[in-house]
Amino acid sequence: MLRNDLLDQWDRENFFHPSTHLAQHARGETPNRIVSGGKGVFIEDRDGNRLLDAFAGLYCVNVGYGRPEIAEAIAEQAKELAYYHAYVGHGTEASITLAKMVLERAPQGMSKVYFGLGGSDANETNVKLTWYYNNILGRPEKKKIISRWRGYHGSGLVTGSLTGLELFHKKFDLPLDRILHTEAPYYFRRPDAAMSEADFVAHCVAELEALIAREGADTIAAFIGEPVLGTGGIVPPPQGYWQAIQAVLEKHDILLIADEVVTGFGRLGTMMGSDHYGMKPDIVTIAKGLTSAYAPLSGSIIGDRVWTVLEQGTDENGPIGHGWTYSAHPIGAAAGVANLKLIDSLGLVENAAETGAYFNAAMSDALADHSHVGEVRGEGMLAAVEFMDDKDKRTFFDPSKKVGPAVSAALLKRGVIARAMPQGDILGFAPPLCLTPAEADEIVSKTAEAVAEVL
Ligand code: PLP
Repeated sequence: MLRNDLLDQWDRENFFHPSTHLAQHARGETPNRIVSGGKGVFIEDRDGNRLLDAFAGLYCVNVGYGRPEIAEAIAEQAKELAYYHAYVGHGTEASITLAKMVLERAPQGMSKVYFGLGGSDANETNVKLTWYYNNILGRPEKKKIISRWRGYHGSGLVTGSLTGLELFHKKFDLPLDRILHTEAPYYFRRPDAAMSEADFVAHCVAELEALIAREGADTIAAFIGEPVLGTGGIVPPPQGYWQAIQAVLEKHDILLIADEVVTGFGRLGTMMGSDHYGMKPDIVTIAKGLTSAYAPLSGSIIGDRVWTVLEQGTDENGPIGHGWTYSAHPIGAAAGVANLKLIDSLGLVENAAETGAYFNAAMSDALADHSHVGEVRGEGMLAAVEFMDDKDKRTFFDPSKKVGPAVSAALLKRGVIARAMPQGDILGFAPPLCLTPAEADEIVSKTAEAVAEVL
């Protein structure tokens, strides 16, 4: 085994880490963690720490760490056939089975699934397909995509543009043309404290209508949104939001892409987030929970009305010119099949609903009355604590104080990983769906201690 200090040196010399302060990392000012193992909701590192991962990696290890069923399925597939492509009708038992299993779990009205590698490439596929769709329908002007401020849809050129967070645009010359942003359904940060939830929904609708009127409905192809805003702060929408937004989209013949990379396969306590909110998407993005991150795999689930046009398009133009070498990679597909079976056999969707509700209630009981906690919110196995400088005056801390990261660091010292969300003082939780009530209690009590230490 290589020595830790050597790994640390090699890491700083060679490894370009995502979302990292590169200069500080190179200077050795940021801690490195060499992660070496995981079991259930815990990970271990090479310094001998055992940490409760209350963010499931990047909200993706939904079944928890160290599941032999998935590891064995991956090993079997690798031994039998590590790779073959999926072009022109090629498949494997795993990829064909997984497509069927995904469709059985998808929202109503879905027709087929296209497999990619990660959430970003799946959303890239989705945007291209909406453009293709409108070209086939003879509407070449209908190409713009509306996303929401605070949405997160990936880090590519188009998907980084869809993402409505400044950090992902700054110095990258994003967003690109054709990508527009509208109001986030973030009731806690509503423009006027006196607004009721219903008024705020009406305000979001009015903002969307105004944007559509300004741009022209005949220039807008699709609206993309996460059922619950994730990286933008873990923000469940206000009551009635999705119904009201869908009514606008239907009126203007705009497709709905539900980005279920985080919410898909149980995180909200329902199989899909669309089910939870009565959404009727035309396209659904899936990734993380599809394999619980045991292997990279994503998908674009295509609804009937789009699928019909795609078929028509290939009749008119020949094969669809879109594909990745690793589309439906057999190892990812084998991991996906084993993972979805495990979610069913362990009752993890039900556990996300029950233990998630318990976890959220306990977090709220422990922290909602703290003088610097503005809101405790969540849904299923997602939770967030948002800090404020002064609750009565509704003022926030100066970002330079980095309150969220400070609480997250204080929590880490106590052996629990939560995520300081990239915008605002928000501590996010997205534990594996197998979390037990006792583990939920541990997260809550240590979070309360960490908050007490910092604030
Ligand atoms: N969409 C959502 C909602 C996400 O949360 C993420 C990643 O966190 C993505 C897309 C991008 O997925 P990936 O990082 O696998 O490209």
